[in-house]
This record gives sequence, C-alpha cells and structure tokens, in this order.
Amino acid sequence: MCFSVHHIRSHPSRSRPSRHLLFVFVRTHSAVQGTPLSATLSLVMSQCCRKIKDTVQKLASDHKDIHSSVSRVGKAIDRNFDSEICGVVSDAVWDSREKQQQTLQMAILEHLYQQGMLSVAEELCQESTLNVDLDFKQPFLELNRILEALHEQDLGPALEWAVSHRQRLLELNSSLEFKLHRLQFIRLLAGGPEKQLEALSYARHFQPFAHVHQREIQVMMGSLVYLQLGLEKSPYCHLLDNSHWAEICETFTRDACSLLGLSVESPLSVSFASGCVALPVLMNIKAVMEQRQCSGVWSHKDELPIEIELGMKCWYHSVFACPILRQQTSDSNPPIKLICGHVISRDALNKLINGGKLKCPYCPMEQNPADGKRIIF
Ligand SMILES: [Zn+2]
Repeated sequence: MCFSVHHIRSHPSRSRPSRHLLFVFVRTHSAVQGTPLSATLSLVMSQCCRKIKDTVQKLASDHKDIHSSVSRVGKAIDRNFDSEICGVVSDAVWDSREKQQQTLQMAILEHLYQQGMLSVAEELCQESTLNVDLDFKQPFLELNRILEALHEQDLGPALEWAVSHRQRLLELNSSLEFKLHRLQFIRLLAGGPEKQLEALSYARHFQPFAHVHQREIQVMMGSLVYLQLGLEKSPYCHLLDNSHWAEICETFTRDACSLLGLSVESPLSVSFASGCVALPVLMNIKAVMEQRQCSGVWSHKDELPIEIELGMKCWYHSVFACPILRQQTSDSNPPIKLICGHVISRDALNKLINGGKLKCPYCPMEQNPADGKRIIF
C-alpha cells in the first residue's frame, strides 16, 4: 500500500485533497478486492471515507456561498443598469433617422481623430457613408503629428508650429512658445559644460519674452553657474524634472485647440460624461411626471424639464432666463437688450408692446420696440 493519510491531512487546499482522496480510494479498492480487510486498513478506510464526506460537504457549502453571490450579481445589474433608458430620449429630437445616424457617426469620428486613433477613424469613414473632407481632419492630423513628436521628446515640429502661429498665440496670452524654448534650453543644459556656448547662444530666443517671463529667464541663467558641477546636483535640479514634458504636451494641446477652434476634450466624451450625470436625474423626474400624469410638460425639444448641475467643467456658454416669462431663452426666443440696458426675452417684449410702443418693465422708459438688440451669449 502506498497511500498516506498524513499526506492528505497536511493538504490545506480545497480541490486537491478530494481528488487525491478519490485516487487513494480507487487504488485501495482495486488492491483490496477479494481480500478481507485488516484492522489497520479498515481504520484507514473509515478515516478516508470520513475525510471524503467532510470534503464533499465543505465543497457543497462553499458552492452555496458562491451561488448566493452569483445570484446577487444579476440583481445588482438589474438595479444599476436600467433597461428603460430609452424612455427619457425622444426620437422627436432628431429631424430624421438619417440625421441622427450622421450626427452620431460624426461625433464618433471627431472623437477618434481627437484621440489620435487615425487608422480607426479612416476605417469608420470608409465603412460609413460619411463624406469627410481634408479640411475637417487636417487640424487633427497636424496636432497628432506634433504631439507624437513631443512624446518622443522632439521639440522641432512644436517649435515650428508655435513660431508660425506666434501672433495668434500671443493674442491668446499663450506662453507655449516660451515654454518650448525653455525646454530646448534645459535640454542643452543637460548636455553638460560642453554645451555651455550653445546654450548661451540659444538664450537669445528668450529675448521677446523677457518682459513677461523675467523670473523664469533669471532662473535659467542662474543655472548656468552650476554647469561645471552638474545641474542634477545643483539647486536647479528641478529644471531637469520630467514633468516639464507632460506639462508641455498639455499646454500645446490646450493652446493649439483653442487657436484652431477645437475643444480640448472631444464633444463625444463630454456628452457621454454629462449623460452619465444627467440620466439618473432625468429617469427620476420622468417617473415623477408619469405618476402625476403630467408627462406632456416635457416636450423633449431643446429643453430639459429641470436644471441639472454638471459642474464648472461643463460650463461653456452663459444662459439667460427671461425675468418676465421665467423661461430660458432660445434661438426662437432670444434675449433682447432694450435701449435702457434691461434685457428681456423677445416673447416678453412682444407681449409688452402696447400701441406700437414699449414700456420697459423695470425702468419705465418708453421706447420703440424695434430699437431692442438681440444679445448672443
Ligand atoms: Zn429699462
């Protein structure tokens, strides 16, 4: 006999002892067929059987634990993912099914271009019916090319771009070009004393920025003193920090997007994030509306039934609510500035006209309704 009860006992893992026991049992069974069991063997056998029974029982109860957890997963999914999400969206928002599909495809495409997933975007263009001209993708292609170079710590393309857009960048109060020159300078400094002359000569690029970035330029000039010693052992070691590269990518993306009229984050990801915040609120309000049988209040067109706070990050345009009608103004009912300076919505203005004249509801200045000017936020 070559089985060992000790060996089985010393095994703490769950699946192995039972398999081992089975193996032992089969071997024992075939070996003892037709032979009466000795007292020791009988004891070992009964121990074995008890062990098997315990293990099977333990397995069954373990499975019961797992089973209850697994069955709870289904309930958790049902609770957190509402299949009735379509209830808060109305097809009436779209002029047509084609328009809806086209808008969605364009949003996905823009997102892909923005994320630098150019080959995926090209594939989508081919597979969909979208007709995207070069003017649309050109800015994304250019940004991605420059960003890729920056990730490789190649400042050339970014510097070239910044210099060619210098005037417009200055109008945006951008310090991109200065930051690029600074990084190039730091790079030369990292080359040690033999790069000193080159660094000094490069410093002339800082001249146009002297009045705005005086402090930073002083720091860089100060660092030259420690070139012999090694910048990494000097008080200026922070200049060599790798975070400058991450920062320059961020600055470039932000400033280039703003210059090219693109959003830093793709409209699709902003919409998705906003939807995640807004959907639960909308689902709740819809349920309340249905309970009170006033679902007709929400037309689904250009408006939400309640205001949903999305946080400062999602503040893009100011909105104006008419102080007379207490409604948010829209393209069809825009805000109008009266000559006295007070602003009301056009619908309110039309309602207040009396005998071809308008009397401002705030300062009772009488005026010609045609003198009101539309305000665009
Ligand atoms: Zn007024």
